[in-house]
Amino acid sequence: MNTKIIRVEENDIDEALIKEAGDVIKSGGLVAFPTETVYGLGGDALNPESSKKIYAAKGRPSDNPLIVHIADMESLAKVVKKIPKEAYVLAEAFWPGPLTMIFEKSDAVPFETTGGLSTVAVRMPSDKIANAFIKAAGGYVAAPSANLSGKPSPTEDKYVIEDMDGRINMILCGGRSLVGLESTIVDLTEETPVILRPGYITEDMLSKALGVKVLWDRAIKEPAADVAPKAPGMKYRHYAPNAPLTIVEGDADKVADAINRLGDKDITEGKKVAVIAAAENTAKYDKRFLIKSAGSFYNEDEAARLLFAILRELDDEDAEVIYSEAFKETGVGCATMNRLMKAAGHHVLTV
Ligand code: AMP
Ligand code: MG
Repeated sequence: MNTKIIRVEENDIDEALIKEAGDVIKSGGLVAFPTETVYGLGGDALNPESSKKIYAAKGRPSDNPLIVHIADMESLAKVVKKIPKEAYVLAEAFWPGPLTMIFEKSDAVPFETTGGLSTVAVRMPSDKIANAFIKAAGGYVAAPSANLSGKPSPTEDKYVIEDMDGRINMILCGGRSLVGLESTIVDLTEETPVILRPGYITEDMLSKALGVKVLWDRAIKEPAADVAPKAPGMKYRHYAPNAPLTIVEGDADKVADAINRLGDKDITEGKKVAVIAAAENTAKYDKRFLIKSAGSFYNEDEAARLLFAILRELDDEDAEVIYSEAFKETGVGCATMNRLMKAAGHHVLTV
């Protein structure tokens, strides 16, 4: 397939181009588009054939549901059975933005879009290009992240092109994603809202807005426990770089000593060693290592923004062994650590 690659300026959106992209969706095609979280791989959410094409383009198992993206609050009623009062509160506080809510689905949403589930995930992105595109596409765009299944979610258009060129009809390029991690997912079909995937919108923010303490899906906090995550996508080994990744946690100097020692041994064995470290610590590492800065230790937003790009760079640069410092778990840091833990297959060394 010939993929049309188009650059869109966020502050000067070319309406004709957006209409063209919307028409692709309306005629059953696929378009990758920027959002504030990560790039999405969009198709018509109400067309079962479009959803099937999304799974095929990603190489994604079809039991892993897609998120339905909308552009205004009026659109919500059509895709859900009923809107619980919590949804109005959360929408008022965090939409448009990086929050996905789970509802009972309406008959308008095909099971192909929800991976066979009777519930549907809905999000209203704040990205201006995404908003214009969703409207032009008819208001309901099903989209998972625009990466090949098993690769880190794309946070820059070049990674979308790397994964999707030749597989879909069009790619809208809009530069770098602002948040850099996928949306927080909160399930509103239970008595008390439950976080199914951590993201930029934190537990505290949700609890404060709702005036009740939200719960966590057990599978996130106790990954070793034998419980299936309620967001089916969380059960897959996501975001994995090609090289084995170990998280080393503890006092910063001890962590650097341990990584320098382990990496020295790896180098003796002829391996290419990489380290992911806070900007404050990069100078502590052996100069023979490939060192990636995740920004200041105190800037959790920057680590979130950089993590997936770093994981992709490490693949491109053929790292053979990767060590990472742990990130600060305040704000979005909790979500960043969740993704890093998945990339590491939960392999943590405490020093
Ligand atoms: P992605 O857009 O690639 O981040 O994937 C969407 C995520 O949303 C996956 O982890 C899905 O499992 C999750 N998701 C989508 N719909 C539902 C649903 N109805 N119930 C629970 N999780 C969902
Ligand atoms: Mg994904």
